[in-house]
Amino acid sequence: MIRTLKYTKPTPTPTVSVHPSWAAAESQDAICLLPGPVAIAPRVTAAFHKPLVYHRSDEFVPLFEGVRAKLSAMVGGVPVGMFIGSGTLANDAVAATLAADPAKDNGLVLVSGEFGERLMKQAHCSGLSPRILSWDWGRAWHLDEVEAAMQRMPAGGWVWGTHHETSTGVLNDLPGLVALARKYGHRVCVDCVSSLATVPLDLTGVYLATGASGKAIGSYAGVAFVFANPADLAHLDTSRIPTYLNVSATVTTVGPRFTAPSPMIHALDVALDVFATAEKSQARFGQIAELGGLVRRRLTAAGFTLLASDDVASPAIVTFAPPDGMASAAFVAMCRDWGYQIAGQSGYLAERRLVQLAVMGHVSRAEIERLLDRLS
Ligand SMILES: *Cc1c(COP(=O)(O)O)cnc(C)c1O
Repeated sequence: MIRTLKYTKPTPTPTVSVHPSWAAAESQDAICLLPGPVAIAPRVTAAFHKPLVYHRSDEFVPLFEGVRAKLSAMVGGVPVGMFIGSGTLANDAVAATLAADPAKDNGLVLVSGEFGERLMKQAHCSGLSPRILSWDWGRAWHLDEVEAAMQRMPAGGWVWGTHHETSTGVLNDLPGLVALARKYGHRVCVDCVSSLATVPLDLTGVYLATGASGKAIGSYAGVAFVFANPADLAHLDTSRIPTYLNVSATVTTVGPRFTAPSPMIHALDVALDVFATAEKSQARFGQIAELGGLVRRRLTAAGFTLLASDDVASPAIVTFAPPDGMASAAFVAMCRDWGYQIAGQSGYLAERRLVQLAVMGHVSRAEIERLLDRLS
């Protein structure tokens, strides 16, 4: 006799001690206000669970190319290469591209938080030794200082920084940087990993920009993006670039160059529906701005000290100090008890006694308000 087995999730009984893997699964029921991983919409989860597709198949290649087209359309039409990895991989690809440039020694890196510092380290690891401009945590790029530095560089150089500095919640002036670079004949490289899909982004004047699937796009982490025009890369000596990090080859190849897991691409494809038209994108950016504004207003009213001032604040992440000298870990644990996952455990936040609320994922106003009510 043939029987059809239907899988149902077993309910752990409270009397039995649960295996740690069950405890971890339960903790996912907390509302996720992390800056990555983000809360994922059910339709994206459903797409992730579609049957696996071979990455060279006639079904997969158009799917992969469709995702690339959707991503390009979000940033003004700049072509994009997709890599399997997290945002750091995309930044390593930028570093490897710069290291293959004749002007590799004519660079400037802007540092105003943890992620700018990582770019600096990645540049060093790729054999670059750029000039560094740095500012205190919570500050934005000072474009007058950037201009002075650019003026001293021979034309044809490059500047690299984080658009949205995730650690501080500061959104830097990318159009301002692009305008300055154009004036002095330099190229802009920018980490847009946490700004992509939170604010309108025009990358048409940018040399290299990075993004990732697992932040505000609202999908699973694991697909990294590098936006670049292949014509801008034609002068590079690619013979010394590590195979996987070759941006030019990745942008000009139809379909994936190497193995790509279809669940991540299926999920990303569906997540991008939110940004399918200019109107839909505007609506999503409006939603994030509204939620971020609400978080800032309510936390300020409750007496919290926010790290970024209103004029430079990103709408998507609010970084602040817990009250009364409370440690980051204790504040995170308190929010966890209330059913919320927030950031504060990373060393770079904990050692500065900072925590973060991010509104980048699939979360509702009501869910956020319940936490803000508790904090008021
Ligand atoms: C998340 C993030 C990255 C990439 O970090 P991963 O851990 O590799 O995902 C890079 N830059 C910024 C600004 C980020 O927010």
